[in-house]
Amino acid sequence: MSDGVNKLVIIGSGPAGWTAAIYAARANLDPLVYVGVPKQDPGPVLPGGQLMLTTEVENFPGFPHGVQGPEMMDLFRKQAERFKTRIVEDDVARCDFTTKPFTLHPADGPPVRAHAVILASGAVANWIGLPNEMRLAMAGGGVSACAVCDGALPIFRGQELAVVGGGDTAMEEGSYLTKFAGTVHLIHRRDSLRASKIMQDRFLSRPNVKVHWNKAVVDVLGSEKCEGIVMEDTVTRERSTLAVKGLFIAIGHTPATKFLAGAGIDLTPKGYIDLKSRHSTTNIPGVFAAGDVADAEYRQAVTAAGMGCQAALDAERWLAGQGID
Ligand code: NAP
Repeated sequence: MSDGVNKLVIIGSGPAGWTAAIYAARANLDPLVYVGVPKQDPGPVLPGGQLMLTTEVENFPGFPHGVQGPEMMDLFRKQAERFKTRIVEDDVARCDFTTKPFTLHPADGPPVRAHAVILASGAVANWIGLPNEMRLAMAGGGVSACAVCDGALPIFRGQELAVVGGGDTAMEEGSYLTKFAGTVHLIHRRDSLRASKIMQDRFLSRPNVKVHWNKAVVDVLGSEKCEGIVMEDTVTRERSTLAVKGLFIAIGHTPATKFLAGAGIDLTPKGYIDLKSRHSTTNIPGVFAAGDVADAEYRQAVTAAGMGCQAALDAERWLAGQGID
């Protein structure tokens, strides 16, 4: 930092934010990371991001025996700290990118100035909002918002599993689960799917798929492990129970971009940050984005980490071009 201006501020503390911090710190950019604070809107959010709500992570390379999500995020943070990353336990509430340097307004502190900013605030999986859903998800009790992350775990192998949703994510997650499950039950609240035809066909052609049309999940059964779900017919209101050992919620994600309201950052029609190239550049020079806040498609820890690396390298090159290094 010189003249009270940070070279680089990183907003977010998931795999993208910490990876950006590690690269930026090692490039002597002295990054300042806003890690966020716990909140409940639009769903449970913790500093560290979605992996803080995950149990076993088996698909992040380098962990041959798997790792708990929160432990992995702690390791990311420690690695960033090792290179003297500066960390603030606060949210950024508002950004002003019209000033040069940029001005960031934390929720609980004076404004902060920065020559470059990396937006890595992530996205939040949408949940139905049932009390048992969240309790079992947090306890590793068979409820998850990511089949690609959790579906291959031993507790789900050969079991009856349910997927909620009718979009591409539900098709993708359902197709993935058919490799391990006994039967995959798709629960959808209407009588037609929103997913693209090709994704529908791929999923519905699997032999171990059963679709429950016009059904809403109104309760999850089981005290320590998911034992079943209660469904309500959205037309007749009739209730029924389905015995399943796993419930996968695939009803969309909400990118964390509220703090960008009025900041002039281009978003996609779905509300994700609109990247201007294969790189991490946004429509505002000097503002970069990485991870799930800018990625509606892959949404994996390892892809977010890769994007964080790209954003740090892009920021470093941009700053050098401005004579700041
Ligand atoms: P989405 O397209 O918004 O679909 C969400 C689904 O969840 C809809 O079917 C919706 O029902 C249902 N839903 C929403 N709230 C619900 C609730 N409270 N209870 C029950 N059901 C609920 O989200 P997505 O599937 O995550 O896809 C997001 C974007 O990523 C899309 O643009 C998609 O094409 C893209 N994507 C692409 C790929 C790929 O190409 N490989 C993979 C995944 C996602 P209704 O239909 O009744 O609204």
